[in-house]
Amino acid sequence: MANKGACKATDCNHEVIAKGYCRKHYRLWKAGEMPKSRYKICTGENCRKPRFKGSLCEGHWTTAHGKAAEAGAAPAQASA
Ligand SMILES: [Zn+2]
Ligand SMILES: [Zn+2]
Repeated sequence: MANKGACKATDCNHEVIAKGYCRKHYRLWKAGEMPKSRYKICTGENCRKPRFKGSLCEGHWTTAHGKAAEAGAAPAQASA
């Protein structure tokens, strides 16, 4: 049974049809609504990782916000 594997979207185990996504998530991906969409990538310098939160990948976001963010506090207008 294990051939293509399961959809890589969070909490989704449907069969992959393309790009590592199931049919439903592949449609979302094409619509630009998945975090690994082709154009939604980190805005960090020379960084092309998928976005984690806001416009940053997980690495850059963690660097910018620190582990305190795990508390779930929304960053209110960080000094740009
Ligand atoms: Zn899926
Ligand atoms: Zn980054």
